[in-house]
Amino acid sequence: MKKYNNINAAQVSQQLNDKIDRELRNYRVKLGKVENVPPQTVRVVPLGGQNGIGEKNMIVVEYEDDALILDCGFDLGVDLPGVNYAIPVLDYLETIKHKIRAYVISHGHMDHIGALTHVVPKYPAPIYGSGFTIGMIDVHFSKVQEQGEVYQPELIVLDMDTHESVSIGVFTVELVRVTHSIPESSAIIIDTPLGRLINTGDFRLDPEPLDAMPSDVKRLAELGRQGVLLLMSESTNTTRVGRTPTEHTLQDSFDDLVGKTKGRLIIAMFSSNMNRIQMIINAANHYGRKVALDGRSMLTVAELAARLGKLKIPKGTLIPLSTVETLPDNEVLVICTGGQGEPGAALSRMAVGEHKAVTLTSSDTVVISSTPIPGNERSYAKIGDLLSAIGVKQYRHPTHEIDGSGPLHVSGHAARDEHAEMIALTNPDYVMPIYGGALNRAYHKDIALQSGVKASHILMVENGAVIEFGTDKKPGIIGRVSSGDRFVDQTGAVVPEIVTRDRLQLTETGFLIIVATIDRHAKLVSSLDIVTRGFIASKTNVQTMNGIRAEIRKILSAKKEVRSKTAIELLKRSIQMSVGSYLLHETGGLPIIIPVVNVIGVTRNHRKPADEVH
Ligand SMILES: [Zn+2]
Repeated sequence: MKKYNNINAAQVSQQLNDKIDRELRNYRVKLGKVENVPPQTVRVVPLGGQNGIGEKNMIVVEYEDDALILDCGFDLGVDLPGVNYAIPVLDYLETIKHKIRAYVISHGHMDHIGALTHVVPKYPAPIYGSGFTIGMIDVHFSKVQEQGEVYQPELIVLDMDTHESVSIGVFTVELVRVTHSIPESSAIIIDTPLGRLINTGDFRLDPEPLDAMPSDVKRLAELGRQGVLLLMSESTNTTRVGRTPTEHTLQDSFDDLVGKTKGRLIIAMFSSNMNRIQMIINAANHYGRKVALDGRSMLTVAELAARLGKLKIPKGTLIPLSTVETLPDNEVLVICTGGQGEPGAALSRMAVGEHKAVTLTSSDTVVISSTPIPGNERSYAKIGDLLSAIGVKQYRHPTHEIDGSGPLHVSGHAARDEHAEMIALTNPDYVMPIYGGALNRAYHKDIALQSGVKASHILMVENGAVIEFGTDKKPGIIGRVSSGDRFVDQTGAVVPEIVTRDRLQLTETGFLIIVATIDRHAKLVSSLDIVTRGFIASKTNVQTMNGIRAEIRKILSAKKEVRSKTAIELLKRSIQMSVGSYLLHETGGLPIIIPVVNVIGVTRNHRKPADEVH
């Protein structure tokens, strides 16, 4: 049998620790602390959003005894075992909790509202947003209320059509309509005693969106003429030249596809894009197809949109998903989630034959109305493979020209010319690229420079940076506060970093539990129990398992007495060490070793209950 003589346990542990450190580096909490904000000073602190796209967006604005929180999202892109999403580290909010007057939310995407259910119950204050945004927040809170959360948030709608503004502490806040990929998105305008701040939220300047609700460029220009101290502008598509095409150019593509498809039609897209769902419903209605919506998020958002008049569904068009198998193929259109190939989403379940209502066959047509979000490229390709293997006809946006359709997706974010236009419209003294990683923000800086903004007037800041404007209205970065990720699991509970480290180690090495019951003279009173998972199969490694037993017996026979807690701890430590080096030598692997030692006949004065000393 092969032996691993040259491996050293310390080295193996170090390599593993380094690997885990590398996996956690991007989420690591960076500590920092600053003094209270000085009088007559505007402080701006991004606590999330500066480290990538869709990354727990959150920015704090402070003046003396008042603070606002702009957006409060979570990050769904965390790929760690047992982690569902991440929220920003809240240490800084704890220090200013007495002055948090409001949460102002730009739009209803989860990377802008997701953390509200964690943050607002802890630091209560009213939440402001447009009607649809507030509807999305209400739905989000009712989901956690189903799981037992009792907190009822105070939700306040601001009317963008009338340019309604509200005084909150020293601030005056207004929302201005912008186009994005969810109804009623807004830019947030904050008038402070030192000048006006604008947070664009996510936007594009589509002049002809399907809902006839274009970005309110007139209002932005008006605000710009009155003077803007700081423009905080999103950075998602700062690498794209020109302008993002208008959404309604897709209507022709959907009309064409629905018209020419003979069998069933399944269209996968993001659940909150109501304009696109409207286009598909229009096309279905025109060609006499019934529409079924699949996916819980798709149904809840569509219900909300229909209630608020953002989605118009002709009578009799919508059918329950459970009835699609009873209709002729050419009358069925299913709109579902999962176009990114997300495991567990509707399209993935169809692709692997685990969907309750839809069994795909080669006579079906699937349309993927999206491009992969950065990070989803592999699952996006995988879903294409699975569908091809079934033999369905596919139309995917990236290959639409080859597939034989018009474009099937447009982005919800501004491209470079629109960013330049935003700067021209608002004419700010200072520009701060936000909501993007360092690369996209650097491209944004480049647009600002080309737009005539001086380099010294462009603020390039990471999460946790503290920017202050004094009475001279000049900004300075005066330090940093703690920032980083708090992991949250499937149940909504926060997962401590130490637990994530253990899980990462377990996924690498597996574990081995040794239960030894001995008397006070270190004699075994029953046979040794060894349980292992994710390391080696104990049934086919009898020799190794016997070797472990021999190692432990050797240690026990060298002991004369085990009475005190310290003696038990020392015994456990030596079991860990010798079994560890034995296994490394025998198998080349080093699992997590958990020794459990029960000592019979020791009085309670000498030891704590067994479960406390494990
Ligand atoms: Zn968004």
